[in-house]
Amino acid sequence: MVFVFDLDDTICDTDMFSEFYIRKFFVDNNLPYKQIAQNVRFAEAKFDWTKETALEWYKTYGDKMMLHFPSKKNAINVINNLHKNGHRIVIATARSTDWHTEPKAVTLEWLEREKVAYDKIYIGRIDKEKICEEENADFFLDDDLKITQRVGEYFAGKTGKHSLLFTTDYNKNLPAPSGVERILDFDDFSKKIEKYAIKDMKL
Ligand SMILES: [Mg+2]
Repeated sequence: MVFVFDLDDTICDTDMFSEFYIRKFFVDNNLPYKQIAQNVRFAEAKFDWTKETALEWYKTYGDKMMLHFPSKKNAINVINNLHKNGHRIVIATARSTDWHTEPKAVTLEWLEREKVAYDKIYIGRIDKEKICEEENADFFLDDDLKITQRVGEYFAGKTGKHSLLFTTDYNKNLPAPSGVERILDFDDFSKKIEKYAIKDMKL
């Protein structure tokens, strides 16, 4: 089986961990703290920031904090176990130089340090349904509603293909797109793929 995993807010905890660096940015730049929305995904929507301010924040701390993102509970165990059992592990992250400085170097360093076993990685702005097509993916896991929807549409009508939405703070109260199944955490993911694997996985 081929598994395609997103990285930020799927394998690692990005948004919650970034809060520390958001506070640091407020203090370092003497900005007034004004939160304008809860449960939104990007800093410029959460605070009364322009995109330029958010970009300045990300360019200052992005690479540094990416190196310290904690992995989601059991994420690496589950992925490494799949890999050990002969499944193909593909990581697909949209990290790119528009927001990050050294996305490739930092991402590879993190994956090596966390001892994530994977076969291939795509880094940059590549449509994930294209990656799923290229890799002949069976399972796709991502926290982004639109991306899981697009992959779900690409999988529609194909047997044994699953687009899965990984639950995070910002998407937890939003309905999963049609054709996309919500996953609560990696324990839930493990149970769901076991259910499919009984007939699908011929190892
Ligand atoms: Mg993500």
